Amino acid sequence: MADSADSTGRPSRLRKTLAAALASVASAALTVVAVSAATAPANAADCSGGYVGLTYDDGPNPSNTMNLINTLKANGLRATFFNVGQNAQNYPSLVRAQVDAGMWVGNHSWSHPHLTQMSSSQIQSELQRTQQAIQQATGSAPKLFRPPYGETNWTVQSVEQQLGLREILWDVDSQDWNGASTAQIVQAASRLQNGQIILMHDQYAATVQAIPQIAANLRSRNMCAGMISPTTGRAVAPDDGGPVSPSPTIPQSPGTTPTPGGGSGTIRGVASGRCLDVPNASTSDGTQVQLYDCHGQSNQVWSSTSSGEIRVYGSKCLDAAGSGNGARIQIYSCWGGDNQKWRVESDGTIRGVQSGLCLDAVGAGTGNGTQLQLYSCHGGNNQKWTWNR
Ligand SMILES: [Zn+2]
Repeated sequence: MADSADSTGRPSRLRKTLAAALASVASAALTVVAVSAATAPANAADCSGGYVGLTYDDGPNPSNTMNLINTLKANGLRATFFNVGQNAQNYPSLVRAQVDAGMWVGNHSWSHPHLTQMSSSQIQSELQRTQQAIQQATGSAPKLFRPPYGETNWTVQSVEQQLGLREILWDVDSQDWNGASTAQIVQAASRLQNGQIILMHDQYAATVQAIPQIAANLRSRNMCAGMISPTTGRAVAPDDGGPVSPSPTIPQSPGTTPTPGGGSGTIRGVASGRCLDVPNASTSDGTQVQLYDCHGQSNQVWSSTSSGEIRVYGSKCLDAAGSGNGARIQIYSCWGGDNQKWRVESDGTIRGVQSGLCLDAVGAGTGNGTQLQLYSCHGGNNQKWTWNR
């Protein structure tokens, strides 16, 4: 296995979405701007450029898989997970989570050996045990098989055939196993053509961090993430409706038309491209909010309410710890005060109702860990936000 790097699993909490549908009367003060280059109507991703197959090998593992799944979902992408059988046996709930999230599951051998150095019966055991472990976890056995290291020969292929497995290699290697940076992984994915497949792994932080940009690149080319056909071995349109509902990154209405509040999603800084984030998924009152790479987990999912609150975890509010320039922005249990109420303006600013000041990235910072404050509204991009629901 080409693994060594550990990944940054962030704790995940159940996301509570607000049931409240906003009365249109109340929405005027709460409008959010969906600024995006995408002009496709809601719920109708434009796939006229074709389909690509995103694949993640070597999982599942408890430190990365949920983060990977959640990030894919938050970006409206589906992918194929080539699981190692012994991992599937150890973490069957993670295999179920893959399927529940609308992902596809393939076989990547039991112990990730060099199959071309093994006998036919050893190969048979590697593949068969994995079929059984995945079947036990999900109720159905895979139809796709990826040989470890892409190493295959006639013996491997005859075992695949006996088990009804289609061998799937790749067209583009992201090199994530070789230390590729997020930018390099995004660049690799941008080379994918219709029907092609990219190799990635379920264990690297850089791989997860590449997902929002991969999604944006595919959208810009009118391409979609598809399934891998067991018949042709190529990426094609999913053959089901798909449990992944419309991408929260696709605006609910085109262009800069303000949309009513309600619903939930990430709040992304225009200058930084990073998301409003509660560090370490803390739920403690007084935890200072920061900018962080968007991953769409519950500590980055915010909901606007009809009273002007911006909530996270259902019951914690975006809260100004003061009303002057430099007042820090924290989460605090919602109590109805005006320092917890915000107006989302059509110019992309988020203004405190009590202070009239703007939500502002300190020092116009754009990096991970940049803190937020109130500051006089000046129209800079460090005070502009897009709400990706
Ligand atoms: Zn592998």
